[in-house]
Amino acid sequence: MEEIAVIGSCMVDLIAYTDSIPKAGETLIAKDFAMGCGGKGANQAVAASRLGAPVLMMARVGDDAFADNTLANFEKNGVSTEFVTKVPGVSSGVAPIWVDADSQNRILIIPGANMHLRPADIAAAGERLSKCAMIILQLEIPLETVYAAIDFGNEHGIPVLLNPAPASKDLDIDHACRCDFFVPNETELEILTGMPVGNNDEIAAAASSLLARGLKNLIVTLGDKGTLWMHGEVRQHIAAPSVKAVDTTGAGDAFIGCFAAQMAKGASVEAAIGEAIQYASHSVTGKGTQTSYATAEEFAAFKS
Ligand code: ATP
Repeated sequence: MEEIAVIGSCMVDLIAYTDSIPKAGETLIAKDFAMGCGGKGANQAVAASRLGAPVLMMARVGDDAFADNTLANFEKNGVSTEFVTKVPGVSSGVAPIWVDADSQNRILIIPGANMHLRPADIAAAGERLSKCAMIILQLEIPLETVYAAIDFGNEHGIPVLLNPAPASKDLDIDHACRCDFFVPNETELEILTGMPVGNNDEIAAAASSLLARGLKNLIVTLGDKGTLWMHGEVRQHIAAPSVKAVDTTGAGDAFIGCFAAQMAKGASVEAAIGEAIQYASHSVTGKGTQTSYATAEEFAAFKS
């Protein structure tokens, strides 16, 4: 099987659980602390790798202990780290998160080294990338690098999947529409098109506005309602299984990792979406992000 190249972000979540949030100048003792590997790119890479696909991660990490943590996590999950490079004198991407007694989150994202992944890095890895089955992108790295990766995929006939998350108004939609698979959730679709997404017809209208700009495939993830896949004149809704949701964080990344793994194995787009929905729906039944991503064996057990 050919490799999937994930060109994207690595973050380390630093989660403090506290009864109350300190005011300015105040120091409080919190209840608990947890650290977790994340970043949309890393999550998608780990999901695809746990399903048995060979995955090449291209990312930048900092010059600190968080970088070692991220690298060790990739190695544990079988993700190739040859193109995950430390940037001297820069912090890794980190996300300090405060969770209060009402489970309300307050999150700060410090992109750090993620913003040092440059278009020139795509060219420098060209020989390896040109042999990949698919290129996967998100928006937690510089937009110029995202555009360079789309152009590289187009020039070398490699399918490109763009997950436009977190949605950025600065994204050049016409350039983004040159990817082969555009995979937003409803909110991202609304922000990027400026159109309402309150019901299926509105979602389809917003999606059509992107197809009219030359986009080949649009897959909108709809939480517990599954996905809408639109291509050409075809509009296909694929439902999600009913599950007991415990934690939906990272469900979108689980979907993309599984979709890419299925496509790399030669599945049709429709079959890959069907599997990805089930994989993402299984992920919401467990706590955490990467901790909720099933291995191929666990996923097979869930489906049977
Ligand atoms: P996140 O930002 O948390 O990573 P997202 O908003 O990008 O998620 P969603 O559209 O919420 O992604 O969900 C992606 C997929 O996860 C859905 O297509 C579905 O298969 C599954 N999913 C999400 N929530 C549920 C749920 N409550 N029940 C069943 N499946 C779910």
